[in-house]
Amino acid sequence: MDCIFCAILAGEIPSKKVYEDETAFAFLDINPFHAGHTLVIPKRHVADLTADPQALAEIAPAVTNVAGLLLGKLDAEGLNLLVNSGSVAGQEVFHLHVHLIPRYADNPGMAGLARRDPDIDLDAVYRRIAG
Ligand code: 5GP
Ligand code: ZN
Repeated sequence: MDCIFCAILAGEIPSKKVYEDETAFAFLDINPFHAGHTLVIPKRHVADLTADPQALAEIAPAVTNVAGLLLGKLDAEGLNLLVNSGSVAGQEVFHLHVHLIPRYADNPGMAGLARRDPDIDLDAVYRRIAG
């Protein structure tokens, strides 16, 4: 199967891991909307939100734990959860993933949510979370 997130899980593609448990794995998005933008994925391959009725519930504890981790380690004052399901909704990787997007006081609200920010230094953000 040709799935980049399965390749990340297998260690074939490097990633900046922020969290792992029995069922879920979380790593920094390579092209973040906001500093600390993280993807939480099931360890088993599930194509999208509707492909398996258990999958979202399986990774829910991880999503909550990662949310707490990001809020604790970064200067974020809130965060957004996002799941894109189907290419028309913007899904590009067909391995279920929850976007966890920390939000900051200098750029609040929904209007500024989903814009890539090329100025984010992924290594510096990662040191703050995992260092
Ligand atoms: P989607 O558009 O499918 O909801 O989100 C896919 C996300 O995966 C995008 O935000 C994209 O930046 C991220 N992404 C794609 N390829 C890689 C990769 O190889 N490594 C990491 N860390 N993120 C990736
Ligand atoms: Zn996969």
